[in-house]
Amino acid sequence: MKPKQIRSLVFLASILAMAASGALAEEAISVTVDATKTPQKLLHTHLVMPVKPGPLTLYYPKWIPGEHGPDGPIANLTGLKFEADGRTIPWTRDLLDVFTFHLEVPQGVSHLDVDFDYIEPDGLSATDKLLVLEWNEVVLYPADILAEKLTYDAKLVMPEGWKFGTSLPVENQAGNQVSFKPISLNLLVDSPVITGEFYRSIDLTPPGEPIHHEIDMAADSADDLNMSPENQKEMINLVAESAKLFGTRHYRDYHFLLALSDHVAHFGLEHHESNNSRLPERTLLLPSSGESLGGLLAHEFVHSWNGKFRRPADLTVPYYEQPMKTDLLWGYEGLTDYLGPMLAARSGLWTQEQYHEYLASIAAMLGPGRPGRTWRPLLDTAIAEPGLSFARDGGWMNWRRGTDYYDEGDLLWLEVATIIHRESGGRKSIDDFCQEFHGGPNHGPEVKTYTFDDLVKTLNALAPFDWVGFFHTRLTSTSAEAPVGGIENGGWKVVFDDKPPKLEGRRGNPGNVYSIGLRVGGDGTVADAIVGSPAFEAGISSQMKIVGVNGRVYTPELLSDAIKSAKDTSQPITLLIVADGYFRTCTVNYHDGARYPHLVRDEARPDYLDELIKPRAGS
Ligand SMILES: [Zn+2]
Repeated sequence: MKPKQIRSLVFLASILAMAASGALAEEAISVTVDATKTPQKLLHTHLVMPVKPGPLTLYYPKWIPGEHGPDGPIANLTGLKFEADGRTIPWTRDLLDVFTFHLEVPQGVSHLDVDFDYIEPDGLSATDKLLVLEWNEVVLYPADILAEKLTYDAKLVMPEGWKFGTSLPVENQAGNQVSFKPISLNLLVDSPVITGEFYRSIDLTPPGEPIHHEIDMAADSADDLNMSPENQKEMINLVAESAKLFGTRHYRDYHFLLALSDHVAHFGLEHHESNNSRLPERTLLLPSSGESLGGLLAHEFVHSWNGKFRRPADLTVPYYEQPMKTDLLWGYEGLTDYLGPMLAARSGLWTQEQYHEYLASIAAMLGPGRPGRTWRPLLDTAIAEPGLSFARDGGWMNWRRGTDYYDEGDLLWLEVATIIHRESGGRKSIDDFCQEFHGGPNHGPEVKTYTFDDLVKTLNALAPFDWVGFFHTRLTSTSAEAPVGGIENGGWKVVFDDKPPKLEGRRGNPGNVYSIGLRVGGDGTVADAIVGSPAFEAGISSQMKIVGVNGRVYTPELLSDAIKSAKDTSQPITLLIVADGYFRTCTVNYHDGARYPHLVRDEARPDYLDELIKPRAGS
C-alpha cells in the first residue's frame, strides 16, 4: 500500500482524522531495532512516540499485506514496557483484540518511550548468520491515523561486520548502524531489510534500462552466494522481459532480497520495490538453480505490478487493523502465478520443457489430485484464505483444498490469454492486457485499486467476449476435471505415462499420487492420501506411516517397485501401516503401474502455448 495516490481511501482519512487520539501525526515516530542478538533469535525495539496527555491506543500490525490474513506475529512480542519522563506507564490489552493496547498518557508528557522484544521463531527468518527483517514485526503504531500519514525515522543496529540490502533509502551508515530516511509507515512495512555475515549484491540492470535493479543475497556460508554467470544473465533477462510485458515500472529502484539457508522458512513475500524470498542454502550451486530462481523470484517480481500497483480494492486497507476481503485473490495471486512462470520461461531461467512439465503438474494436481474441487469452487479457496490457509500441516489437502487460487489461477489466466488471442483474431495478446491494466506512468510505488468490473472492462476493450460468464463458470465450478482449456487452446494436451517428470522444485516428482493415490515422505509418513484413490479405499489417510511394503521394510524405491510389478497382474500391493500406535496391514488393489503427467502436442491446433513463452526482449 502506498501513500501518494490511494484515491479510494481519501474519504476514510477525513473520517479517521476526526476520531480521538492521544498520538500526533505531524511529528515522526523514531524506531530503533537492535538486531545484534539475532544469533540468539531476539530483536529489541525502542520507539519514541510523540503523544499528548489522555487515552492512547496502539496497534501491533495485524492484517499483513501480501499475507492476506490477520497473521501479524503478536505472540512473539514480549517484554513490552511504556515509559514517560522516566516513569513506567501501565498498559492493558484490548478484551476483543489481542493486537490492541490501551494506556493513559499522563499530563505534561509529550513523548512516550516504548520498548519491547521480538522473538524470532526458530526456523523462520533468522539464523546464526543472517536476518530478514519485516518491519511490521517490530513496530507499534497509534490508532486513528492512516499508515500513510504516519512518519517513522527508522534505525537498524546489526551484528558487527554484517552487511545489508534493502529498497529503503539510507540516510547514513556508521559501522553496524544504519539510519534510513524518514518514511511513511506503509512504505516502511513494505520495505524489508536483509542482513548477514555472508552477503553479496549483484547488479541486475539490463543494458540501457534507466531504473536500477539488484539482487541482495545473504546466506549461511560464503560459497552459497556463487550465482553462476548464466543465472545472472537470466535474471537480467527477467528484468528486461518484465519491461516488455508491462511496458512500465512503478518503483524507484528494485531489490530482489534472497536468503539462502536451510534454517529459514522457504517462501516469498512481495513488496512494491523489493521481495523477501527464501530458498535452501545450496540452491545456487545446483543444476536446478534456474528452475528455483524462476519459480520464486519471477512470481514475487510480477507482484510489483500485479498485487502492489494494481490491487483489488477489497484487499487495500488504510491501516493494518482493518480486515481485508480476499475474494479477488484469483486475480492478485492467480494472475501473478501465471505471469511469473511465463516470464521465467521468456528469460531462460526455465526451459520450454520445464514450463510444459509445470503446467502438466498443475493440471494433474487439480484433476485427479484434487477431489476437493467437487465440493469447493475456486472462488471459495480465495474467500476462505484468512481462515483456512494455515491448515496445511494436518494433511488432507486434496480434500480440503488450500490456496488453490494460485495454481488454478495459472490455468485460468492461461485460458484468458488464449481467448484474448482467439477473439481478437490474433491481433491482441496477454501482453496487451498487461500493458493496459498495469501500465501508466511511473510515480514510484503507488496503489491503483481495481474491482471485478474493471478487469472485465479492460478485457472487453481488447477482445469483446462474455468474460463475465467465463469467470463465473470457472470461479464457481465444482467439476472434478481440471480447467485445461488454456492448455488445449494453446495446442497441447495433458497425458499420463510412466516417465517421471523432469522438475526438481516444489512441483517436482508427484510420487505415487496419480497411481495408488499417495504422497509419501522419505520416512514413510503419508502427507496426503487422495480421497477415493486405491490407497484411500484400502484404509490409508494423512499422517499415517508406511513401514512395510510387500513384507519388506519400507523404502520409497520398494514402493515404486511394488507399483510397477503389480501392473497388469491380480496381485495386490500390501502395505504395513502404523496408525495411532497400532500396526495395520492395508491391501491396495491397483494394477495400472506408475503414472505421471506430461504435455504432448495436439498437432490439430497451432502451438500458441510456446508462442506465449518466446523471449520478447531480444536477449
Ligand atoms: Zn504471490
